[in-house]
Amino acid sequence: MKADAQKDRWQNVTTSQEMPVPNEMRAWVLGDPERLELTTKEVPVPRRAEALVRIDAVAICATDLEILKYGTPALIEGGPPFNKNFSPGHEYMGTVAALGPGVDEFKIGDRVTVEVHSGCGQCKRCRMGMYTSCHNYGLNYAEHNKGHRANGFTTDGGFAEYAVNNINTMIKVPDSMSDEEATLVVTAGTSMYGLTELGGLVAGESVVVIGPGPIGLLAVAVAKALGASPVVLVGTRENRNAIGLKLGADQTIDARNEDVVARVKELTGKGADYVVDCAGTEVSVNQAVHMTNRGGRICLAAFPKQAVSFDLGALAVNNIYLYGIRGEGRSATHRAMAFMAEKRFDARLIHTHTFPLHELPEGLRYARDRIDGAIKVVVSMRTKTDSAKTAGE
Ligand SMILES: [Zn+2]
Ligand SMILES: [Zn+2]
Repeated sequence: MKADAQKDRWQNVTTSQEMPVPNEMRAWVLGDPERLELTTKEVPVPRRAEALVRIDAVAICATDLEILKYGTPALIEGGPPFNKNFSPGHEYMGTVAALGPGVDEFKIGDRVTVEVHSGCGQCKRCRMGMYTSCHNYGLNYAEHNKGHRANGFTTDGGFAEYAVNNINTMIKVPDSMSDEEATLVVTAGTSMYGLTELGGLVAGESVVVIGPGPIGLLAVAVAKALGASPVVLVGTRENRNAIGLKLGADQTIDARNEDVVARVKELTGKGADYVVDCAGTEVSVNQAVHMTNRGGRICLAAFPKQAVSFDLGALAVNNIYLYGIRGEGRSATHRAMAFMAEKRFDARLIHTHTFPLHELPEGLRYARDRIDGAIKVVVSMRTKTDSAKTAGE
């Protein structure tokens, strides 16, 4: 009896007649590398501490492109995510459509944006609030079920019409914020996490951000909102540096035409108090080491793909601290939302293009090849037209 089976699946789940949940949904599924197929899937059912989110918009991230090509850092059932009926996509927002048993923290109809990681909650790192560094990453299947979730990485994500989220990963979106802008909160959350791990108290301190990608640009915005002064952005692309100025950079440095380290020393006196490297190259890591003030701190927010050679001695003799960050931990996304809700910076400046769900592959192409100056490409469920590439909102 199909109808009965459906009823069983939804037992103890709260739904609303005002927002009926279908049994099936459209979802993009990853087959072989770089092969996405739009198919039909069963709508997932929220369990304890979970809600079902109807996805309204999802942003494309460079990490999505990596997952499609190489598989990592996605991990499904202990292996690569290919041909496992897996839906990627992790920077999404939507509307609460159903509540798992016992959930009263949200209401059906609430607009929410999500952060990626819901750790297992039981390992040493989760207990410290470092849930993005959960020791049980990807362990959520068969006899290895530790309850870990990272939607779009180890569980189904946002290139679909619905997704289940742990309530710890959900943040209410104010009415004044558009769907597209709300997809950018987790990116700002990653930038916020970097500054949090550096010590957080950056008011009046100099912050240099290397690399004007989405995380770098929003690191400029967050640093400025936290009161850092001066905030300096280092980049090679003039148009990106110009956006950095609008987001709060006091100065930009053109890495192609200027001596980056000398210029930072000129602007800051003794060197930067904090450096956030969002480029992740051998050149940028060495620049970071040499531009940092004695006793200053460096955050690696992008990671070099290969081993790099850098001036470790300069780090040691100058008492410089080096931090790695993984994702958007310690509720940094909530703090990023607090700033964005207050309109302390305009993250919409990095949103360049919008596509409807069925044109996801075209959106991915725009993001990958940076077509037409693409920075953040957003897939919006409310965009129905075919030729929907639009600049901004
Ligand atoms: Zn991302
Ligand atoms: Zn854990």
